[in-house]
Amino acid sequence: MNLRDYIKIVPDWPKQGVQFKDITPLMDNGEAFRYATDQIVKYAREKEIDLVVGPEARGFIVGCPVAYSLGVGFAPVRKEGKLPRETIKVQYGLEYGKDVLTIHKDAVKPGQRVLITDDLLATGGTIDATIKLVEQLGGVVAGIAFLIELNYLNGRANLDGYDILTLIPYD
Ligand code: IMP
Repeated sequence: MNLRDYIKIVPDWPKQGVQFKDITPLMDNGEAFRYATDQIVKYAREKEIDLVVGPEARGFIVGCPVAYSLGVGFAPVRKEGKLPRETIKVQYGLEYGKDVLTIHKDAVKPGQRVLITDDLLATGGTIDATIKLVEQLGGVVAGIAFLIELNYLNGRANLDGYDILTLIPYD
């Protein structure tokens, strides 16, 4: 199966000059969504994952079926003010300004082998912040899985030393 056929490129969205990669056709197709999930599950089994962690909102969509299939938990990373109990937080740079990501303080147990999931790797800022949250709680980032990687933004350089799986690279 060629997963690339299920990604729609939307020109000039959300703003002029951006070629937005829309993953909703992939999610909308049962066979494609299962195939993508199975690839990540296979990778996660090799990495002996204990827990899946993903940033809102598309990191949930990618990560939850993987966690279900492995029979491990899923811990959400969310914007500040969205999680109800005690959290730790990390500030990270956006194209314009700054944002904050948070995780529940008890979401990751020390020594747990964590898989981080998201839909797309662009500059790597979101996942770099997610790694910091997991590591602050004592988790071991054993792998990172994306549906899509924008190779030309070189986000991998910001995630140096971590093992990365990408299903659909764009040059
Ligand atoms: P980064 O932090 O620069 O790597 O940006 C990655 C984040 O931005 C991910 O959480 C994506 O959901 C989102 N993102 C950036 N560009 C796109 C796109 O073209 N399609 C879907 N999501 C995108």
